Amino acid sequence: MKTYDIVIIGGGPAGLSAGLYAGRAKMDTLIIEKQKYGGQIVITDELENYPGSIEGETGPSLIGRMVAQADKFGCERVEDTVTDVELEGDIKIIKGVNGEYHAKAVIITGGATHTTIGCPGEKEFTGKGVSYCATCDAAFFEDFEVYVVGGGDAAVEEAMYLTKFARKVTLIHRRDQLRAARSIQEKAFANKKMNFMWNTTVEEIKGDGIVTSMVVKDTKTGETREIFADEEDGTFGIFVFIGFKPLSDLYEGKIEMERGYIITDDDMHTNIPGVFAAGDIRKKSLRQVVTAAADGAIAATQAGKYIEELNGTAYKF
Ligand code: NAP
Repeated sequence: MKTYDIVIIGGGPAGLSAGLYAGRAKMDTLIIEKQKYGGQIVITDELENYPGSIEGETGPSLIGRMVAQADKFGCERVEDTVTDVELEGDIKIIKGVNGEYHAKAVIITGGATHTTIGCPGEKEFTGKGVSYCATCDAAFFEDFEVYVVGGGDAAVEEAMYLTKFARKVTLIHRRDQLRAARSIQEKAFANKKMNFMWNTTVEEIKGDGIVTSMVVKDTKTGETREIFADEEDGTFGIFVFIGFKPLSDLYEGKIEMERGYIITDDDMHTNIPGVFAAGDIRKKSLRQVVTAAADGAIAATQAGKYIEELNGTAYKF
């Protein structure tokens, strides 16, 4: 069986950046991605804060170029879901649904996924009124009412995006102050289509095939009430943006973690020699495309150094 220099688990900005750097250094590199390249960024419609992106840059457009760039430098890619890893030895073994992969070094860039409210009806009505992706589903709510749950950057930015489609957008937040950056808040407060429902949580989502109502609770008084869809509309949208959780279950008990985030040093080393982590899956203070891409570049160069020490090959980055 072939032994790659580096196997990268995950094809988001961190994984693709690691692939680019490793490929460019002529390391034999494979990226394993289970489904869709780009991770969370493919559901982002506007990427204002990636250096060099000024106007018209979307998540998919940036990721498309990142994939092409990794390919250009000879990084191999395969679609598979990793089910198990053996990371302790000099040869790391990655087991997937479709095959087994061997590598001298592994870079884990599995990312994170959205948190759910966890209330009754949320799962049942996902895709039937409940959504976690404004760019994917906004068009379904053209001229309808939508509610956005959350108070961070994602909730407020996505709510503003939804105002381009929906008749009315109401942000439901569990406190009376947003967590979002001040600049984002200012834009939201100035947007005439935006409404705010403070100190409120969603307790239950109801419907008949599609969402028709939801039960909300006032966090101050504890009172609950049911919000019904406008009679003519028959439904409304509920978009949930209440944070993320790392996709790290696979590494539980195998790599040092904190609250599910993999612990690394500044050079992306985990506590296992030859195993690196990059992007949103690792413990860090800022989870953005720019930091994920930077992590990936560092992880690849450090993996190169590790292999160099292992077998004496020198890589030029
Ligand atoms: P976040 O900053 O963690 O905010 C999560 C929001 O959801 C908070 O307002 C929180 O309320 C609320 N929340 C959490 N659990 C909840 C629950 N069970 N029920 C109701 N509300 C709940 O998450 P995010 O907005 O998804 O952002 C994640 C990271 O991505 C952040 O670092 C953010 O800066 C970054 N991001 C950046 C941009 C940008 O810079 N353009 C855009 C999107 C995301 P509390 O405030 O009460 O805790």
